[in-house]
This record gives sequence, structure tokens and C-alpha cells, in this order.
Amino acid sequence: MRINHFTAIGAAFLLASGAVVTRSSAQAAPSGAAQPAPVTAIRAGRVVDPETGTVATNQIILVQNGRFTAIGANVAIPAGAQVIDLSALTVVPGLVDAHNHLALTYKEVPERNIYYLTYVLDDTPFRAIQAVSNGIQMLSSGFTIVRDMGNNGNYADIALRKAIEQGWIPGPTIIPSGLIIGGLGGQFSPTPEMAIDKKLVYPEYLEADTRDEIIKAVRQNALFGARVIKICVDCKPWGYTTDEIRLFISESAKAGLKVEGHVQTVDGARRAVDAGIWSIAHDRGMNDSIHKVMAQKRIFRAGTETPISLVGHQTAQRYANTVAMLKNAWENKVPLTFSTDADYYVPGRTRGEVAIEFIETWKAAGIPAPDILRAMTTTGYEVSETERTRGPIKVGMWADFIAVPGNPLQSIDALRNVQFVMKNGMVFKQGGVMTPAAFFNGGPVNGWNAR
Ligand SMILES: [Zn+2]
Repeated sequence: MRINHFTAIGAAFLLASGAVVTRSSAQAAPSGAAQPAPVTAIRAGRVVDPETGTVATNQIILVQNGRFTAIGANVAIPAGAQVIDLSALTVVPGLVDAHNHLALTYKEVPERNIYYLTYVLDDTPFRAIQAVSNGIQMLSSGFTIVRDMGNNGNYADIALRKAIEQGWIPGPTIIPSGLIIGGLGGQFSPTPEMAIDKKLVYPEYLEADTRDEIIKAVRQNALFGARVIKICVDCKPWGYTTDEIRLFISESAKAGLKVEGHVQTVDGARRAVDAGIWSIAHDRGMNDSIHKVMAQKRIFRAGTETPISLVGHQTAQRYANTVAMLKNAWENKVPLTFSTDADYYVPGRTRGEVAIEFIETWKAAGIPAPDILRAMTTTGYEVSETERTRGPIKVGMWADFIAVPGNPLQSIDALRNVQFVMKNGMVFKQGGVMTPAAFFNGGPVNGWNAR
């Protein structure tokens, strides 16, 4: 089943905007001669459709120009196609982590997991490089889309998005929020020196206490390349009112952006759902009645349910509540997304391995594997607003998928063993080994004017 990835990728370097550079044809063809883009054919033993919870066996998947062009049992493999044999594996659409912070890694040494200190110790360029590494680690664990929800210094998340879209580096499709918008102090409790002199809170948070400041903050993030807006609903006792949250939503909509609220109280959750927010992060403000409204209004839940197995990052009492609330949300049919908030270092594990560990909480809540997989895929594409361009394994979509032994519809733990990753039609992992060398480009493949 191993193939030479240098040839199998067919040298088509494709990006979200549709720009194309075909390396081998550019080298081989005389200038001006048009050649059809190379075709990659994948023999898949099984293909899972998480939306319907079904499996199709012995499928042929064709990929050209980075997109799926044919899928079926009787699809003919064109002459000259590069063939990838995954007949012993199960092909699954790429996974989504709907809440991570790739340019933030707090740790036991030296900052004792106090991330306020991480902001002081780690500068934005250093964190941006960290984000590149974390992005590769997420991709290796099968996450082809990551919503990056702030706490990334001075827009390191947006630099990461642009670098991946430009083909500089391998990584998931990034949906970045830019700076988290909150009132004075953000999520911190700063001293006057820290807050007023703006030395130790910013740029981690973007300050907006009035309606004018709210409008300006949304426009700033949109200008600098955010794909979603993240706000602190109730990080301070006063927080944002329902009307102020509505203002965030309407101003963001002008830029085509949705709003996620960091929520930590029931009152905050009530204001967020009343305002009709797009998604809610964390589960501290959740209860049965909030869940019922979220289901009715189809507000996405990014509960960031830390498993007890990540020792030091969860307590037994808090975990019991997390599991109970996740179960309650599932019973109420809230749109559930798989979200981790994994922004810390667990010795011996990659960022992707920390993220996949979160399936333990979902299993503890008694949620069936097909529903967990749906949260990790279908609902993830919806909350990321990619469902019409990437995610599902369907003709016309960008060719993103992973392959694992076993069947994640029966045991979600199958996702712990990602053997193969394709994104934009390029192979990033095969035989369980990341193969990034062929994907580093000496220049942007999406034009010089990165936005
Ligand atoms: Zn977070």
C-alpha cells in the first residue's frame, strides 16, 4: 500500500482560492502548451459517510486539481493516474477541532500552566512558529480543519492561515478569529499598570467597552484577516448585554463573519442565546434550559470537554459536570462540535494526540460513535462554514480525507490511528508517517498579495 508520495501527489499545488500551479507539467511541457492536470486514484476498502452513518465498500475515488472528481464502486481509473492503495483501510472525511489555540502553548515549566505568564514570556513571532508546528501535529492526527479562537499574540493565527493557504507549509485549513474582543482586561484581572499602560494584556485581547469600540474592534479583526469573531461574553461581571452581542453579530455580518462567545456563566449563556449567537465556547454556562434554546435556534456548542485522562487539566468534580452537561446537550439534540481548547503541553504527546484524547469525554457521556464522528466532521464543517467547499467526500469538494484501520462508526478509538492524510489532493501522511518534505514551497503559490 505504500507509494512514492513524490509522484503520487501529481505535483498539483492547490489552494482554497482555486489558484493552481502544476509543478511537473510546468517542468515537462513546452511553454504555452496546456496539459490535463494529473489524476490521483484512491482504492478505498471502505468509505464512511458520517452524515448518514453509513459505509460504502470497495470504492474508487478520483482526485484532480485538488478536488474530488468521481467516487463509486465502478469508477474507471484513467490511464496514467497515480494509484494509492487504501484497500485495507477505512477512508473518513477530515476531522475538525472547532476550538483550539495553535499559537499558544502554556506548560508546567516555567510558568506552572499560568497562561498569563506565557503571554509575557513568549513573543508573537516565536508563537507563530509554534503554531506552524502545532498545525502539522494536528494534521498528522487527522484534523484537516481547525477553528483557531484567539489567544495568538498579535494575529499569529492569521499569519498561520495565510502561510498554509500560500503553500509555504503543511497544515489544516485554519478558521482564525484574530484577537479575542472583550472589555477592559480581557480574560485577565490585571493591575492598573498592566491594563492602562497596555503592557501585559495586549495584544492578547482587543478592548471594546462601548458600542463604538465594538464596531471598531470587529472591523479591525475583519481587516486583518479573521474568518470568525470571538468575544468574551461574561469574562467580567458586567460583560456584554444582549443588545451589545446583537451589535457584534450585525457588524460581523457586514464582513460575512459569524460570532462565537466565550461563556462562563448561565446569565452570559442566556444573553448569548437570546442575541442569536453562532456558537458558544465552553460548558460552564450550560444547563438543560439553555440547551433547549440552543437546539431550537441551532446554536453550535463548542463545549471544550477536557477528559480526566489529561491529568492536571481537569478535576474529578468538574469532569463529572462536564460529562453530564455533554450528555444533556446530546439528549436535547444541540448541534455538537468537537472542540478541545487544547492549548497546553502534555509531555510525550503531540497537539493532535492531545486533541484526539477528548473522545474519552464523549465516550464517558455515552454518546454513540456515529454521533461523535458527526460532531468531529459534519457539524464541524457547518460551524466552520466550509460545508459547501470542503469536508464531505463528494464530487466538487476539495479533496481532504484521512484513512484508519477499523471502523470509527463502531469504535471511535479507530481515529487514534490515522495512517493516511490527504488535503487539497496532496498526501501529507501515509503508512502512518508524515511526509511533509514535498510540500514546502520556496514561494507563495497563491499570488504574492496574501490576504
Ligand atoms: Zn479557548
